Amino acid sequence: MERVITVYGLNSSNNRNLTFVEPDECPICKSRIAGKILFGIYESDYVRYSLDFCSACKGVFLATHNSSGEVISCEPNRFVEKTFTDELTALSPQFVKIYNQASAAESSSLDEIAGIGYRKALEFLIKDFAISQNSDDADKIKNMRLSPCINEYIDNTKIKQLAIKSAWLGNDETHYVRKFEDRDINDMKKFIDALVYFISMDLIVSDAESLTS
Ligand SMILES: [Zn+2]
Repeated sequence: MERVITVYGLNSSNNRNLTFVEPDECPICKSRIAGKILFGIYESDYVRYSLDFCSACKGVFLATHNSSGEVISCEPNRFVEKTFTDELTALSPQFVKIYNQASAAESSSLDEIAGIGYRKALEFLIKDFAISQNSDDADKIKNMRLSPCINEYIDNTKIKQLAIKSAWLGNDETHYVRKFEDRDINDMKKFIDALVYFISMDLIVSDAESLTS
C-alpha cells in the first residue's frame, strides 16, 4: 500500500511529504501482514528510509526505498527454519538439516553458498527416498552419482522428472559454467518444494497400502 508521509531530511532542515510503498513482508518473522511505517527519513533525492512496525511479531525494522518510494531492501533479515512433515523428516533427517542450513545462508545473502547447499540437500532427499524403496541396494545407491541413481531407482514419473530437472539446476550452482542462464536458485527451490510434496504423498500412500483389514 502507498502512503504519503512527512519525512525528515538528513542533510536539510526542511521536512518533505513523500510517497512510500509499505513493505509487503516482515524481514524478521516473514509475515505477510507486513509493516506499518512509523516514520521516514530522506538522505537524498535517490534514497529514503522508513522505520516500520510489524503487528505480527511486534518487531521494528528498517526499510530502504528508491526515489519512487518502492522498497529495495529490509533489515534485519532473520532466518525462519522451515518445517517438514513427520514422514519426510523420518525419511531424510539430513535433507531437513542441509535444506535449512542452505536457507539460513540464503537469508544472509550468501546466495552462491546457498545454491550448493540446496544441491547437496537434493542429493540426500533423492537417495534416502531411493534407499527406502530399494533397501537391498542401499550401499550401491549411497556411492552412485545422482543422475544414474535417479534413472535406475526412481519409478514415479512425476518424482523422476522433478528430480532430473532439479539436479540439472543444482549442477549449475556447483559448476564454473552455467548451462541454464534463465534459471536460478528460486527455480531449483520450487522444484525441490514440489519434490518434497510428491515424495511426502508417496510415503503417505505407502503407509495407507500397508493397512490390511
Ligand atoms: Zn514480523
